[in-house]
Amino acid sequence: MDMTVEIWRDVFQDKIEELILPHIWNLTVVTSLQKQPGWLQYTQCTFGRFRCSLCARWWNSAEIHILFLMNLDRTMRRGTVNMQIFRQECKKCTVAVMEKPEISQENIRIIIGNLVKRIQIKFYSLNSRNEDVKPVVYSERREGPHNKEHCEACKRNVCWWLVSEMEPERWQAPARRKPHETTFRGQTDDSWLVYSNPRPTPKVNQPSADNQENTFVGLVAVVIFCLVWLYLSKQ
Ligand SMILES: [Zn+2]
Ligand SMILES: [Zn+2]
Repeated sequence: MDMTVEIWRDVFQDKIEELILPHIWNLTVVTSLQKQPGWLQYTQCTFGRFRCSLCARWWNSAEIHILFLMNLDRTMRRGTVNMQIFRQECKKCTVAVMEKPEISQENIRIIIGNLVKRIQIKFYSLNSRNEDVKPVVYSERREGPHNKEHCEACKRNVCWWLVSEMEPERWQAPARRKPHETTFRGQTDDSWLVYSNPRPTPKVNQPSADNQENTFVGLVAVVIFCLVWLYLSKQ
């Protein structure tokens, strides 16, 4: 068995067991994840590095896509998380192979921490902000914009349905997209920072009903005052 798969599973088990939940949860790393109706979808982006198995070139990426599908079977008291880490291929080699990323233990812990918090919020109604902890970026060097044609997630066009989580009940309507979701693809520098967090909608200051009433009373008072003044000045 793949060692990295075990690390993900162990970190997840440690974190989820700390919560003492009434259900048993399991995490499985899979190579190809398909959307399933009724399952909650959640995505994260992290930092890591890849090595080309053909030319031995290394590259960093701050846009390693990770997709989670989560489901809780309350009658069976069993929760399931299926997870896929998307691969990338070397841009220098003409016949490149899709490579798996190396992700640091520190970033694995951050990703699992975010995932477990999301499970608490979505399945156990924990009242908390949906804000994910950002990954640690170990490189100062800029790799340039995300190379979509060499990214497995972008190639499969899953980036569009990866953009944000979808509630099970909204599953059938992927065409409806919130405004913030369409803007992030162009931000190559820090799009991964805000990847799965909806931006708060700005508050618009609406004049309250009270204010409108006060203005009306004021106007009436001014009109009455003018009429009285006109009447008195004519005397
Ligand atoms: Zn290569
Ligand atoms: Zn991509």
